Amino acid sequence: MTMTVLISRSRSLLCAGLLAGLALPALPQDAGRALSGFLRALTPPSSGAGIDAPGNAGGSADLLRMLSDSLEQIDEPKEIEIGRQLAAVLLGSKPLDPDMALQRYVNRLGRWISLQSSRPQLPWSFAVLDDAGFNAFAAPGGYVFVTRGLLDRVDETELAGILAHEITHVTDRHHLAALRAKARAGLAAQLLGSQLRNNLGGAVSAQMLALGRNLYSSGLDQGDEFAADRNGVALATRAGFDPYGLPSVLQQLRTATADNPLFTLTLSTHPPAQQRLEQLEAAMGSRLDAFSGKPAVSVAQRLRGR
Ligand SMILES: [Zn+2]
Repeated sequence: MTMTVLISRSRSLLCAGLLAGLALPALPQDAGRALSGFLRALTPPSSGAGIDAPGNAGGSADLLRMLSDSLEQIDEPKEIEIGRQLAAVLLGSKPLDPDMALQRYVNRLGRWISLQSSRPQLPWSFAVLDDAGFNAFAAPGGYVFVTRGLLDRVDETELAGILAHEITHVTDRHHLAALRAKARAGLAAQLLGSQLRNNLGGAVSAQMLALGRNLYSSGLDQGDEFAADRNGVALATRAGFDPYGLPSVLQQLRTATADNPLFTLTLSTHPPAQQRLEQLEAAMGSRLDAFSGKPAVSVAQRLRGR
């Protein structure tokens, strides 16, 4: 299969999407019931509330201080704690999808792929956000989210490619690198004094909230995105999926218009899909073709037990 790239499109700079300009609601109660296990994982084991109130100089402030230091100094427990707080930021913006069968399916698929990754021991959790947009997010330590709007538009092979891309961001600590760059640029301090008033009931510190919102609306380093595409394709293939799942998603993104609000955030936080396809084509060549040609299975078919 070749990935013919026909259309060059400029990237939208708009960030109106899942997180930009959001008025944070409290974590939804029914979603908490529906996925109590997942949300329990978001509560640190050390204390009952386990939560820093905004402005509290406790754990979150330490985490932010740490981000100014070298990445090597962030050990795995701290990485997971940072991810837990960022996952709470994401969950504060959109509720979890109430379809438990769908949640179980995505979690199972994601966990299977993560087992083939370089860090299978992380506490991986995969969940679906009740949002019509086409988006996928990850946070350090193994938290991965996809939106309902994405699931409605991909088959299993494509979903596996997307999850593998997000898993690679986690295993290679791309979010930590991006957060560190922001923290070092003084963004946390800058944003602290601004309009941030979080309604999360103190689930995350105001600084972490500011950093998280900024991270998920502006995206990661572009080189890291290309690396996650390359290594994600390799990971999905290792997990037994057709290597052309992610390229197929990128073809779809390439034809999505930036003024379609469902795609705006994904398009604005990633390099242009055409560039991603060209980079992947150069990296893959025809070397993975022997693994392609597997029959496509839709998410709906899989949920019906096919
Ligand atoms: Zn990415």
